[in-house]
Amino acid sequence: MKADQADHFPVLIVGGGASGLLLSALLSRQGVRSLLVERNSTTCDHPQAHVVNTRSMEIFRSLGLDSEIRRHALPMGTSHVRWVTDLAGRQLAALNLAPPPKEIVLRMAQSPAPQASCAQDRIEPLLANLAAKGPGRVEFSTEMVDLETAPDGVTVKLRHGGKERVVHADWVVACDGAASPTRSLLGIAMEGPEALAHVVGIYFHADLSEFASARPAILYWTIDTEAPGTLIAIDGKERWVFHAAWDVERLSLESYTKEQCKRILRRAIGADVDFDIRSVRPWTMAAQVAERYRAGRVLLAGDAAHRFPPTGGFGMNTGLQDVHNLAWKLAAVIEGKAGSVLLDSYESERLPVGRGNCDWSARNAAGLDKVIGPGAAHEAQRLADGAVSFEVLSAQIQEIADREVGHFSALGRDLGFSYETGALVPDSSQPPEREDPDRDYIPNARPGARAPHHGFVKEGKILSTLDLFDGQWTLLAGAAETEHWRSAAAAQGLPIAFVGVGVDVEDPSGGFASLYGIDAGAVLVRPDGHVAWRCRDGVDDPGATLRHALAKILGNP
Ligand SMILES: Cc1cc2nc3c(=O)[nH]c(=O)nc-3n(C[C@H](O)[C@H](O)[C@H](O)COP(=O)(O)OP(=O)(O)OC[C@H]3O[C@@H](n4cnc5c(N)ncnc54)[C@H](O)[C@@H]3O)c2cc1C
Repeated sequence: MKADQADHFPVLIVGGGASGLLLSALLSRQGVRSLLVERNSTTCDHPQAHVVNTRSMEIFRSLGLDSEIRRHALPMGTSHVRWVTDLAGRQLAALNLAPPPKEIVLRMAQSPAPQASCAQDRIEPLLANLAAKGPGRVEFSTEMVDLETAPDGVTVKLRHGGKERVVHADWVVACDGAASPTRSLLGIAMEGPEALAHVVGIYFHADLSEFASARPAILYWTIDTEAPGTLIAIDGKERWVFHAAWDVERLSLESYTKEQCKRILRRAIGADVDFDIRSVRPWTMAAQVAERYRAGRVLLAGDAAHRFPPTGGFGMNTGLQDVHNLAWKLAAVIEGKAGSVLLDSYESERLPVGRGNCDWSARNAAGLDKVIGPGAAHEAQRLADGAVSFEVLSAQIQEIADREVGHFSALGRDLGFSYETGALVPDSSQPPEREDPDRDYIPNARPGARAPHHGFVKEGKILSTLDLFDGQWTLLAGAAETEHWRSAAAAQGLPIAFVGVGVDVEDPSGGFASLYGIDAGAVLVRPDGHVAWRCRDGVDDPGATLRHALAKILGNP
């Protein structure tokens, strides 16, 4: 490959799934020109991910996409998951995931953007539209076929319409999914089990209201010998996916013909209804994380970096949050505001999160092992053989469901993840103690934490702290030393928005200072909404103090 013939891009993104498209949009927001190449001709048309957690909804809110996502989402009131013999048949167990009113009030105090259930095939076009606004460019039907890395850049061979061309990029981000060709070319190994289960996902349209309206649910697990699987309500109207457990020892993928899929669906629904099968896709449940997220000028994000069991719904969310972490760092390096060492913090911050979410998702899958997939078929066989009565099996499944309820309620993992080392200056505070770190979120503004939501009023309008960050550096300080800190923010080598609480915005509850842990000091929030640095008390020279902190954060000597 000859680099001198190439087009040149500061960033080349391989893969136009949710991770790649969001990265393109975020880089554009930072003013960075990128090229995204996606080998398929359109965004995905097969709904897989649907749980969009609170942190991801906050990111979408900052891009103005949250209302559109809610418009396509399952109606807010749908809150059950159920275990049934088949959709029309008997219910064995159920969980109502609707939080009690007290919990709802607490959650509203923690985020202005509650989680939603909106399928990936509706999210991706929204991201693609945003990405298409530029300056980033998105090219569909374009495949990355090879790349060569060098100390000063990456040369990438692309194929489009049978023709090959070469482009040159300063940085490449592999968002090319679980089988990541980029990761393979770089020889980066995945750690963890590769095949925990095999599944065939059947996406279909049908009017199932006759059966579902009496027992609405987000998902139904079928306890059946022939069709053990998960039926997911995508829009609460006509869009459904059935994930059928696939016995790879016994059945080839070719045996999943349309006729066979229809038989499976009839069995799972328990009635001979009309349905329109839209797509059939196999997938393998894995619990793997890449051994590293960076190799020179190439970085891995999304499923290219980690593959989780879908139990808990963290795969896409973790990928979205990877690129949210990465976009501003790439922009800072490309604009010469930071050395490339800043990009090392991408791995030191995100790899532990990827590992934690992977282990948690795998634990969820193991906890439900007996009542989903092959385990469900085994239990159904015991029921059919009379080895267990319906009532006893029902009680056993309910016990497992109650024990595993935590995997549907993980605000601690969703909002409470925090970076211990990376692009931040730690202070002497300890992380808040949590009885259950997966479940419990305790808002705090320690360096590394997501800067918590707090309500302000500005010019008569209600505002969340989160609305202030919006892709930029933000310094917040109380009224006491506002003007000193304002001058300090203005005197740095990069733009920092300054907010004097009690001066530029009103704090009606008066709770900002204690929530953010400052008196006459200040808090510096990164463009991804995580706290980079804070100082509780006033200092003699705020400008120099802030400059010193920024140099550490950005890795500038
Ligand atoms: C059944 C199921 C349910 C799930 N539910 C949830 C959920 O509720 N919530 C959640 O957060 N996650 C969920 N997930 C996980 C989620 O689907 C994935 O984590 C997510 O799709 C990963 O997004 P991505 O953009 O990283 O990768 P992908 O969506 O895999 O996108 C990668 C893209 O790269 C392209 N590509 C690959 N190679 C090349 C190449 N050489 N050149 C150009 N393009 C290339 C591919 O065509 C593809 O479009 C679920 C997964 C499954 C299987």
